[in-house]
Amino acid sequence: MSQTVENPIALLRTRIRGDVVGADDDQYDDSRRVWNGNIDRRPLAVARCLDEADVQAVVRFATEHRLEVAVRGGAHSMSGASVVDDGVVIDLGRMNQVRVDPETRRAVVSGGALLGDLDSATQAHGLAVPAGLVSHTGVGGLTLGGGMGWLTRLGGLTIDNLVSARVVTADGEARVASASENADLFWAIRGGGGNFGVVTQFEFTLHDVGPLIHFGMVFWPLDQGAAALRHARTVIDTLPDDVNVVIAGLNAPPAPFVPTQHQLQPGYAALVVGFGSAQSHAEVFDALHAVPGLFDFTTPMPYVELQKMLDEANAWGFHSYDKGCYVEALSDELIDAVTARFPEKISPLSVVLFYRLDGAFSRTEEHVTAFSGGRSPRFAVFVIGLCPVPDMWAAEREWVRSMADALQPSTVGDGVYVNGMTDFDALNPVQAAYGPEKYARLLDIKRKYDPHNVFRSNATIAAAG
Ligand SMILES: Cc1cc2nc3c(=O)[nH]c(=O)nc-3n(C[C@H](O)[C@H](O)[C@H](O)COP(=O)(O)OP(=O)(O)OC[C@H]3O[C@@H](n4cnc5c(N)ncnc54)[C@H](O)[C@@H]3O)c2cc1C
Repeated sequence: MSQTVENPIALLRTRIRGDVVGADDDQYDDSRRVWNGNIDRRPLAVARCLDEADVQAVVRFATEHRLEVAVRGGAHSMSGASVVDDGVVIDLGRMNQVRVDPETRRAVVSGGALLGDLDSATQAHGLAVPAGLVSHTGVGGLTLGGGMGWLTRLGGLTIDNLVSARVVTADGEARVASASENADLFWAIRGGGGNFGVVTQFEFTLHDVGPLIHFGMVFWPLDQGAAALRHARTVIDTLPDDVNVVIAGLNAPPAPFVPTQHQLQPGYAALVVGFGSAQSHAEVFDALHAVPGLFDFTTPMPYVELQKMLDEANAWGFHSYDKGCYVEALSDELIDAVTARFPEKISPLSVVLFYRLDGAFSRTEEHVTAFSGGRSPRFAVFVIGLCPVPDMWAAEREWVRSMADALQPSTVGDGVYVNGMTDFDALNPVQAAYGPEKYARLLDIKRKYDPHNVFRSNATIAAAG
């Protein structure tokens, strides 16, 4: 698209209540920065919207003046989808209100809220929405791609708990999307990403959670990895509904509960979270000890603390790259591939994570949402390169790619989680992520609500060419 406006910033300032930041403003660098330190783009303007009317005005302004658009929620897109060179960023960061009704067990969440905003408001009533593992992630992008975390086995994906949304579409209209209104749009935004408009408000159902949960971690050294993971899979196969386990390849954190001599040492961990009785958590935790760890740790903790536990390890500014896939099981072949390649990583911050997806996740049928992936029991695998300095990044990207290639023979092959993709290269094109049937349906809905592909700074749904 060509950029045709003489002084667009001055003009846009007259149209919204929020402020508009341009390259001459002191706040410009802050306003264009995103979570992935590797992204350095220079938008024409960042429109910090205060409400839905602001969002409508910016969408209309951008299309009128043929400016590129990016929508910014929590700014955690690995690919930097929420900032665009020379275009307009619709920044929802100030639209972060969360309203909880404990009677109806519903939360109404503005489009720019972070998971931390959502958790603190819902936990005040002992309630929660299943979402992700890091509290500074945006509700917006996470939800629109699916949303998985500790509560997925118990309560499904974030989208499985979405009741309705308000969406500002490419024509600037605000529409309700729910099972009874614009049902096609409601289907598409549950997995189809930010392709269909700007969600100014989400409405979620809530689950009883905590406020205290049980956390445990067992850590094995590299040379015990293959044995530990083979054993962990038998424990994970028979997990009760109220316990979840994430398997991780990582460096032991420099935390007080880690003996000093083991801090920062690479290895494998089972992170065990129990939402039910202490006994049900302890049974899983104890079962994992059949292969004795280098150290372990278990404690009750508030759910909101669990949700912040990985915040620092995933701080803003790391130079990052990731790839993901689904695997059906921790097969011998997969474990061998992981344990052969994991030690080759360069950055102590880089990780490989296996999220367990079954239980409530598998009780929603695949056709009900646009989620990119099937619903049979599986693991979502994230191979994440996180570099504290830019010089490491290119080599770490190669490590991520080589690990992803090695996992390829073990993948389920019915999709790729779009929120776990940094780039949309030949290995993981967006169409393959959704599969031909869902992609064709998404494309029809895209043509209806965004025929000129205004919302394309994302995992874009677009006709070839
Ligand atoms: C540290 C970290 C931890 C993560 N952990 C998890 C996890 O545990 N589980 C999980 O499922 N995923 C996880 N993710 C992936 C995460 O879901 C995606 O990166 C997601 O896109 C982040 O959303 P955001 O709003 O923060 O990002 P943004 O960069 O702001 O947005 C991402 C995309 O969504 C669009 N978008 C955002 N908000 C809106 C809105 N309101 N309306 C329309 N479009 C919108 C943007 O335009 C962009 O295309 C993690 C990512 C990071 C970096």
